[in-house]
Parts: sequence; C-alpha cells; structure tokens
Amino acid sequence: MGQGCNAAFEDVVIFNTLLDEYLDNWAEALPQFTLRRKPDAHALVELSDNASPMSGTLLFYEFFIRIRFGQILHQLFPKRFPKPLFQLASETTIPYSEILNTYQNWITRVKRSNKRQMVKSFRLEWNFSVASHTMLYCFCKNI
Ligand SMILES: Cc1cc2nc3c(=O)[nH]c(=O)nc-3n(C[C@H](O)[C@H](O)[C@H](O)COP(=O)(O)OP(=O)(O)OC[C@H]3O[C@@H](n4cnc5c(N)ncnc54)[C@H](O)[C@@H]3O)c2cc1C
Repeated sequence: MGQGCNAAFEDVVIFNTLLDEYLDNWAEALPQFTLRRKPDAHALVELSDNASPMSGTLLFYEFFIRIRFGQILHQLFPKRFPKPLFQLASETTIPYSEILNTYQNWITRVKRSNKRQMVKSFRLEWNFSVASHTMLYCFCKNI
C-alpha cells in the first residue's frame, strides 16, 4: 500500500494530541497511544496484505478496472463504488479501520481468490515435482 510514511505522520499527530490530553505525561500517553492506534495498525496490515489480487485471476482484471475507472464509477454510483481504496488511504485522514470496513467485501473476495490461486499453483508445482522425480527415477533405473 506504500503507507509507511503516511502512517508514521499519523502516529505523530495522534501521539501529539495524546500528549496534549495527558499534559505531557508520557507514562500515561504511551499506553493510550497503543490502545488508540492498534485497530488502525491491524487494519493497515490487513489492507496491505489483501488489497491486490494475484495475477492470472478474474479479480485481477477487476482490480485494474477499479484502479483505472474507480473515480468515474464512484461519481456515477457512489453507493455501489466508494472512493477508490488507494485514494482513501493516501489522500484522506480517514482511519485505516474505517477504510477496511468500507472495503471489507473486496478484501474478503481478494483473500478467497488469492487462497484459491495459491492452492492451484501449489498443486501445479507438486505435480511438476512428482513428474520430474518419476522421470529422473526411470532414467536412473533405465526403465
Ligand atoms: C526498503 C523500504 C522501502 C520503503 N518504501 C516506502 C514507500 O515507498 N512508501 C512509504 O510510505 N513507506 C515506505 N517504507 C516505510 C517507511 O520508510 C517507514 O514506515 C517509515 O519511515 C516509518 O517511520 P517512523 O518514523 O515510524 O520510523 P523510522 O523511520 O524507523 O524512525 C525511527 C527512528 O528512531 C531511531 N531510533 C530507534 N530506536 C532508538 C532509540 N532507542 N533511541 C533513539 N533513537 C532511536 C531510529 O534510528 C530512526 O531514526 C519503506 C521502508 C523500507 C525499509
């Protein structure tokens, strides 16, 4: 997602607000920072891991259509298509946990599709490995 620096700047703003709230008492502000930031940190990891589908899937093409025409789709059908995910993450201060809520359906679909794709490529690798080992065995045994 390329959100490392954005997230770091948000950290600064949030911690600064907490220092104001807790009158510069670091011992109180630090645990509050963890409490307040944890849901967004977890949401950012979830978004980073699962926003993009693996290539070679139908969802991958949908992903590109969403990137290319996301803004137009949002203007035409705002309820069906929220603002594009990457735009929400990079150009707004909407918390990552809210963005994850908005895009939960998409993330679930990507997770499912990536899992299927991984199983497929594992099976392919496994079959290839079995076939090549069998051939090697036959070759060595002169079968
Ligand atoms: C290879 C790479 C590519 C990246 N690409 C991108 C990108 O394209 N876009 C993006 O947004 N982000 C990117 N990131 C992530 C981004 O750089 C980090 O998320 C961001 O810098 C984190 O900022 P920070 O201030 O929280 O921590 P840091 O930048 O790690 O700053 C922490 C500072 O604290 C200092 N420090 C640590 N311990 C102590 C101590 N005990 N006492 C005193 N000082 C201490 C460290 O020396 C460091 O200077 C990338 C990171 C890497 C490694």
